[in-house]
Amino acid sequence: MEIGTKCLQEGWKPANGEARQVPICQSTTFKYDSSEEMGQLFDLEKDGYFYSRLANPTCDAVAAKICALEGGEAGILTASGMAANFLAVFNICEAGDHILASSAVYGGTFNLFGTTMKKMGIDCTFFDQKDPVEKIEQYFRPNTKCVFGETITNPTVSVFDIEKFADMAHRHGVPLIVDNTFATPVNCRPFEWGADIVTHSTTKYMEGHAATIGGCIVDSGNFDWMAHADKYPGLTTPDESYHGIVYAQRFGKKAYITKIDAQLMRDLGPCQSPQNAFYLNLGLESLEVRMQRHCRNALAVAEYLQANEKVAWVRFSDLPQDPCHELQQKYLPNGSCGVLSFGLKGGRAKAIPFMDSLKLISIVTHVADSRTCLLNPASHTHRQMTDEQLLAAGIAPDLIRLSVGLENVKDIIADLAQALDKI
Ligand SMILES: *Cc1c(COP(=O)(O)O)cnc(C)c1O
Repeated sequence: MEIGTKCLQEGWKPANGEARQVPICQSTTFKYDSSEEMGQLFDLEKDGYFYSRLANPTCDAVAAKICALEGGEAGILTASGMAANFLAVFNICEAGDHILASSAVYGGTFNLFGTTMKKMGIDCTFFDQKDPVEKIEQYFRPNTKCVFGETITNPTVSVFDIEKFADMAHRHGVPLIVDNTFATPVNCRPFEWGADIVTHSTTKYMEGHAATIGGCIVDSGNFDWMAHADKYPGLTTPDESYHGIVYAQRFGKKAYITKIDAQLMRDLGPCQSPQNAFYLNLGLESLEVRMQRHCRNALAVAEYLQANEKVAWVRFSDLPQDPCHELQQKYLPNGSCGVLSFGLKGGRAKAIPFMDSLKLISIVTHVADSRTCLLNPASHTHRQMTDEQLLAAGIAPDLIRLSVGLENVKDIIADLAQALDKI
């Protein structure tokens, strides 16, 4: 099946006489006739549902769809994109470990890795993804457990050289985790380029309508945990909190996701609700159609801004002059996403009155949804970062992040034009 067909047909597959749309299984728990059967479920000897913190049929069907879209082996929904990134890393790390992450990752992820996980004893070295690999490789330590990057960085919209960083990670015997939120599997499937694990904030394009927060983790099943058994004791030695199960032996290619579910969901609890999974699934059905329009609109807007004399610079990798254009052509040949960034001549002082003059386009924290919106990260999402950190993350103080929606592009450009006229 082509990707657009999978968006509609994968996941929930009704049997004869069952509901066509995925049923919302709004139940905390599930009933069994014998205590024997219930016991087998708890021992992970039998497949089945018992408590929705661990698994729910609606959430599973939607996770299966995203897994199919990414071409993965197993997937799990999470309460948010942040929960996805945290669990994806914490599943293979513990106190005393170290990770490598691109310094251009989403601000929330930057804080998670740089501050919160540090308090848990997990150290992170942020690298500049533009630096040569030989330089970045020097940051590896014997206790480094993964490399983390974003296919398209939020908010600087740079393209991550997935194949290059997958090779680097594998040379050092660790997996590459890629946050594929902005690209979505419609525009890029990181597993095809060697990434091992993919995460998503489904809050963005996947759900697509600014209605629900959610996340997802998908495992390619390709990373051989047993071949690096010393590094990943959580997967390769008995889990005493789960009857001594050795996940990598018992579950093979599904080990990584099974451990997230059986151990981390059980103990930490950031599960998705079936109601919100249903909304996410509705969004996924039209993902390909929407991504095509987001990309087309964003390219037209980028070209318009670039030609406007009041605009100092535009970053959008689909533009031939963009520093990431070559990477876009390789990884995102059908278009990157609907998000671009730009700065005005006169900088931040002009950005504020410009933004306040917009009528159709709204100032919201959100990004990558159906309605065009924008913000100035230095004044909004990233205001907790120092100027030094902002610059290290490549975020100019004048950067305006514009998320181009699904409206008719003539109306989007007309609104930009009238606001630019006012400054
Ligand atoms: C928004 C976002 C997140 C966090 O997702 P939430 O659903 O808001 O928790 C993580 N990564 C990227 C790239 C994002 O854009």
